[in-house]
Amino acid sequence: MAVLDKLTSQQAIELENKYGAHNYHPLPVVLSRGEGVHVWDVEGKKYYDFLSAYSAVNQGHCHPKIVDAMTNQAKTLSLTSRAFYNDMLGKYEKFASEYFGFDKLLPMNTGAEAVETALKIARKWAYEVKGIDENKAEIIVCENNFHGRTTTIISFSNDPVARKNFGPYTKGFLKIEYDNLQELQKALESSNNIAAFLVEPIQGEAGVYVPSEGYLAAAKKMCEEHNVLFIADEVQTGIARTGRLLATCGNCSCEDKNCSGSPEVKPNILILGKALSGGAYPVSAVLANEVVMNVIRPGNHGSTFGGNPIAAAVAMAALEVVADEKLAINADRLGKIFRDELTEFCKTNDLVKSVRGKGLLNAILINDTEESDTAWDICIKLRDNGLLAKPTHGNIIRFAPPLVMNEEQLRECIAIITTTISDFSK
Ligand SMILES: *Cc1c(COP(=O)(O)O)cnc(C)c1O
Repeated sequence: MAVLDKLTSQQAIELENKYGAHNYHPLPVVLSRGEGVHVWDVEGKKYYDFLSAYSAVNQGHCHPKIVDAMTNQAKTLSLTSRAFYNDMLGKYEKFASEYFGFDKLLPMNTGAEAVETALKIARKWAYEVKGIDENKAEIIVCENNFHGRTTTIISFSNDPVARKNFGPYTKGFLKIEYDNLQELQKALESSNNIAAFLVEPIQGEAGVYVPSEGYLAAAKKMCEEHNVLFIADEVQTGIARTGRLLATCGNCSCEDKNCSGSPEVKPNILILGKALSGGAYPVSAVLANEVVMNVIRPGNHGSTFGGNPIAAAVAMAALEVVADEKLAINADRLGKIFRDELTEFCKTNDLVKSVRGKGLLNAILINDTEESDTAWDICIKLRDNGLLAKPTHGNIIRFAPPLVMNEEQLRECIAIITTTISDFSK
């Protein structure tokens, strides 16, 4: 088979099944093109994308400004490694640091790498600045977290599928219940060796769990009182997804592209990935102020591709799109419409228990067990009706369209979702 031969969906699926490792269970649809809020399969059928590559494609598929930045840079200089300077990285570091309101940025490629980076920085800070004895540092994490797939990260996961038979596990993590300030207080008081608290502002993979009002600000304050770093993993919630530039932002308006939230909810370490590139290229980053970031010195950490010129060009363009097109404001407004409409629908339909979320990161809870196929079967019907979404955790369906959607498109999508579920209940 020649590389350029056109495949049918069935052939493409068979190839992946035969030659690929089975580390995912994709919905059976084979995509070959994307533009804005839409994707097309190889047979030419058009769909609304309601996953946005797990919120990587906030700026919409193949955004022309991001594609231009990427192709121009690809033709000029793609990779130097960090053995030499390049003329894009510093510009990007200044741009993104100012954009999010931090002193410094450390560039990586994937979300998991950025989480690993944050953990390493926190530990080194604990020994060199806070004065914890060597190898004693502990990091508080939350139950049902999702921070990626590396050996250390799955060590503090409690998802048996992600963990089992991947031991021995990395030590130094203390797990508490999410959205529980008493448990955080207890953990912080339990030892003088706590370096950091790592938290998702909304637990995305767990099923879009939004913590109680004020949880993040109170948690940050407690951390401050114990000289513990507050690390926000905003890989999924960041970059306008939740109706704010960052989900850790307070109630700022986001009219200002430099919006980085009210100071009391500002993390000591911010982790970004996914939409930092608008889905065009793997780009992730860790941001922090000097006292924290300065613990990293030559040789302590790095990556051949991290901070490459294409990544720098792409990320700057992707962040400009977020500000220029006021995507946070759009996500906030459309998200409210989505939840209002779906909440009304829940009252008339027994199959949907509830809807929850923030901005355009939302989920519905299907009235069936976690082990049932109902949510999966609904997603297959949604696909047939031209909308792509996927269950997280059995009976929860996440809805996260690109943030460049307009109200008319959103209302059409709400109609597809409600009619599909109504037909399904019959
Ligand atoms: C997706 C995700 C990650 C991991 O990102 P990868 O690029 O897949 O490694 C980490 N944290 C959160 C909250 C995520 O949603």
